[in-house]
Amino acid sequence: MTQVKGKELTFCESVNCMVDRAVEVLDLEKGVTEALKTCNEVLQVRFPVIINGKIEVFTGWRAVHNTHRLPAKGGIRYATTVNQDEVEALAALMTYKCAIVDVPFGGSKGGVNIEPRNYDREALQAITRRFARELTTKGFLSPATNVPAPDMGTGEREMAWIADTYKHLRPDNVNYIGCVTGKPVKYGGVVGRVEATGRGVQYGLQEFFDHTRDVKSSGLEGTLEGKRIIIQGLGNVGYHAAKFLSEEDGAKIVAIIEYDGSLINENGLPVEEVRQYLTKEKGVKGFPGATYTEDSSAVLEMECDILIPAAMEAVINAWNADRIKATMIAEAANGPVTFEADQILRKRGVTIIPDAYLNAGGVIVSYFEWIQNLSHIRFGRMQRRYDESRGHDLSRTIEEITGKSLTDSMKSRMVRGASEIDLVRSGLSDSMRHALQEIIKIKETNDKVDDYRTAAYVIAIEKIARSYLDIGVYQ
Ligand code: NAD
Repeated sequence: MTQVKGKELTFCESVNCMVDRAVEVLDLEKGVTEALKTCNEVLQVRFPVIINGKIEVFTGWRAVHNTHRLPAKGGIRYATTVNQDEVEALAALMTYKCAIVDVPFGGSKGGVNIEPRNYDREALQAITRRFARELTTKGFLSPATNVPAPDMGTGEREMAWIADTYKHLRPDNVNYIGCVTGKPVKYGGVVGRVEATGRGVQYGLQEFFDHTRDVKSSGLEGTLEGKRIIIQGLGNVGYHAAKFLSEEDGAKIVAIIEYDGSLINENGLPVEEVRQYLTKEKGVKGFPGATYTEDSSAVLEMECDILIPAAMEAVINAWNADRIKATMIAEAANGPVTFEADQILRKRGVTIIPDAYLNAGGVIVSYFEWIQNLSHIRFGRMQRRYDESRGHDLSRTIEEITGKSLTDSMKSRMVRGASEIDLVRSGLSDSMRHALQEIIKIKETNDKVDDYRTAAYVIAIEKIARSYLDIGVYQ
């Protein structure tokens, strides 16, 4: 529940308010708007699991927000914040996200209300397999209709357990391995899925900084080089985003906020070392070469160029929005800025790159993984050698015609066939860049749209509404 000066908006209400703002621009029929906002189905399960010889009962959910495209897609979260409202809001965000980046999926999300840090590997495996069984037998897991992925508190390991459980329950489904994405590469995963969401954040920000007018009107200038960034959450998304932005784009990570406190260093923090320390010590406290503080709220409010919330929802809300000093907020987490906060920040002229666009890298690469699973062949397997031999032919021809020898580095660039990671990154970059160009175009050409979030929702809602209006409603 988000605390909002006297009244409270739930996560779902917050997302719906943002959608309403875009609906006003589009002037849609009321029925279409209602159909679009409604969460189609929610499964709640309570299931017992034997942990260290004792029975414990867990509660899990899987919400399906929209199935205008199938399968419905969205992560599975393990956290103590998980509840029905949260999974419904996150499922809705998935619907809009897929539409924004042109991934032909509906929106879904799931989770189990647990603190994963309190359980060992064996216990987590038992909980995950039992949850996967509940989802399969109740029709909420299948490569055709509902395909989960990792989210907060889950990763490749959990996805492999889910796929294996599904395989045993549905051995006659030839596409069983596509029932979940974000799997280990050796078990049907695609190279580059682990880094995908953080990589997508990097590509999204790179594209933004290619639009000089937008950069200027946001109060920034130049490129990502030297930009002072604060990152909240050094998990899968935050770690990869911070690593790529600092190591490849020359940005400076001046503060990292984690659950046990924050690290500050104006000269820039070494992301890789902090991550290793965090993994080993289960916290950032004591990391050498940085100032540590327990007062993370104050760090979130520190002055910086770009604030990247990459941990959880509602961290920027009506209570602290007035004090946020970042010039830009890049939403790597889902729902980090509440609707009330969004309104305050918009009035204050803070630029927000919205979650439904910026963290879509995960679902884009999940889409690639799912396609690879369904086609039963790895990307590039049929053509890599062929491309390499064409490269050899071409370099020999150039040498013959010119009478000059190419250098080894010229030859190797010409000869090299694209690997799986090359293809995945190329597809991800293209999708992220193209989607932001569309968002910017809507913002520039529609007088009623003056922020990137509304522009992104306008794109999503138009696409989804069109599918209702063109195809009609199944009776
Ligand atoms: P994760 O569990 O890997 O990492 C979350 C990190 O945030 C952890 O390091 C945790 O210690 C930290 N954290 C938790 N509470 C915190 C707090 N109050 N303050 C500071 N740090 C805190 O999760 P993730 O997969 O990186 O997901 C993070 C966010 O990104 C979530 O909102 C998730 O829905 C969203 N997201 C994830 C993916 C994905 O592919 N994993 C895709 C899209 C969106």
